[in-house]
Amino acid sequence: MSQAATALPPFDGRAFINGQRCWAQAGARFDNISPVHGQVLCEVARGDGADIDLAVQAARRAFTDKRWCGLAPAARKRVLIRWADLVLAHAPELALLETLDMGKPIQYATQVDVNSTANCIRWYGEAIDKVYDEIAPTPAHALALITREPMGVVGVIVPWNYPMIMAAWKIAPALACGNAVVLKPSEKSPLTALRLAELAMEAGLPAGVLNVVPGFGTEAGTPLALHMDVDCIGFTGSTRVGKQIHVMAGQSNLKRAWTELGGKSPFIVMDDCPDLERAVQTAVGSIFFNQGESCNAPSRLLLHHHIKDAFVERALQLLPQYQPADPLHPETVMGAIVDRSQLDTVLGYIEKGRQEGATLLAGGQVARVDSGGFYVQPAIFDGVGPHMAIAREEIFGPVLSVMAFNDVQEAVHLANDHVYGLQASIWTRDINCAHGVARALRAGTVHVNQYDEDDITVPFGGYKQSGVGRDKSLHAFDKYTELKTTWIRIDSPV
Ligand code: NAD
Repeated sequence: MSQAATALPPFDGRAFINGQRCWAQAGARFDNISPVHGQVLCEVARGDGADIDLAVQAARRAFTDKRWCGLAPAARKRVLIRWADLVLAHAPELALLETLDMGKPIQYATQVDVNSTANCIRWYGEAIDKVYDEIAPTPAHALALITREPMGVVGVIVPWNYPMIMAAWKIAPALACGNAVVLKPSEKSPLTALRLAELAMEAGLPAGVLNVVPGFGTEAGTPLALHMDVDCIGFTGSTRVGKQIHVMAGQSNLKRAWTELGGKSPFIVMDDCPDLERAVQTAVGSIFFNQGESCNAPSRLLLHHHIKDAFVERALQLLPQYQPADPLHPETVMGAIVDRSQLDTVLGYIEKGRQEGATLLAGGQVARVDSGGFYVQPAIFDGVGPHMAIAREEIFGPVLSVMAFNDVQEAVHLANDHVYGLQASIWTRDINCAHGVARALRAGTVHVNQYDEDDITVPFGGYKQSGVGRDKSLHAFDKYTELKTTWIRIDSPV
């Protein structure tokens, strides 16, 4: 084991159920391998249906006796804000866990992942005592109250690319509304979710309100999605598994199912782009951020043929800035791919791109082999055809596919002719083109002359096979509450 790994404290991979750390009931464990150096960080509880059931029972008891949902919204707010403060107070520890678990550079784990997680928890805490219910405009002899109620037990299943942020986007609004939660983190990145749950209890969240069961998808995720006493499932992950989640919801108790899924976002640059240098920097920075392992990465670069060659030439000049390096070094911008199987997937797509006739301009080689971890040089393909696998399928790695177009109609057709509809971007100085294209693009978020703005105040989610429902913003409360109408007869004496 490397020097850095031996110097680290022991990690706790036990589940967190009913306020207690525990191993899986059957005693099964799995090795948690760090992509940074390929070494085992710790053993993790390998949860299965029995552990999910225990966690759901704990959550159900916590919900039924109202230890959390019975508190005033302002009291829940105070706990969530304390929790956000604790996340920030543990920033170095949480960032280190995130980097070791899934390979992202430590500077981004600290600046982006920890800060966004704390901000999300704080924002929903602050929001919950400021949202009002409704009174319907009914005739005078009756009063109709329209109120939001927590659903009960919410199951949450998240991926490994932003383990804390993806969890926070769901558990923060779900808890703020008064639900109890059972969270299953990805088997590739379980450690921060477990620490977040401990910190929540330290902040005052009652035992049983937030439970975390690590384990594999089919062993722990499926029993959660099929559980008859789970009222709602919030899922982020691949479209393949997301479709199964909707089926499982229907096969069991028709639990509400919300899915945030894959993407293949188009980044369209017109020949009147107001700032080509900023467009190149943004395109390259956005596709290669988080090693390309972002659902909203602009992996399809659609360039007007007038500017294509100059744009690509400049992108190639920027590439050396994104070479993989030690994720624990404070200046690294490109870290490790999450595991060997994801690295093989990325390399497989690069090979397929070549075979299908695209031109690999740079990158695509395995890197840092001596480290023992999993690294690949960022790759740029030119001459990509719309039917090639590297244009149609989500690679989830640092691979940019460049396509040329002749006019705006062709650009919009290429952008929309896809199963995904998560995000999109249009770069132009023509206000009519900007508005017209923004309306025409079938995507949950459209960026005009930028790509990197993001905020907890705006909804996040996709059209088409990018999922069902929205995370973030006040709209997330719609996912974790039921609407109730209460009619009250008024026999007025006056
Ligand atoms: P994945 O679908 O393989 O796994 C996601 C989660 O589902 C994991 O916790 C996994 O254990 C679990 N799971 C797997 N099979 C399951 C099953 N049969 N039943 C229940 N649970 C199961 O996805 P991944 O590889 O972890 O993550 C990458 C995917 O996530 C990409 O497609 C990416 O686009 C997507 N993603 C989407 C968003 C968004 O907001 N739209 C955000 C981040 C990631």
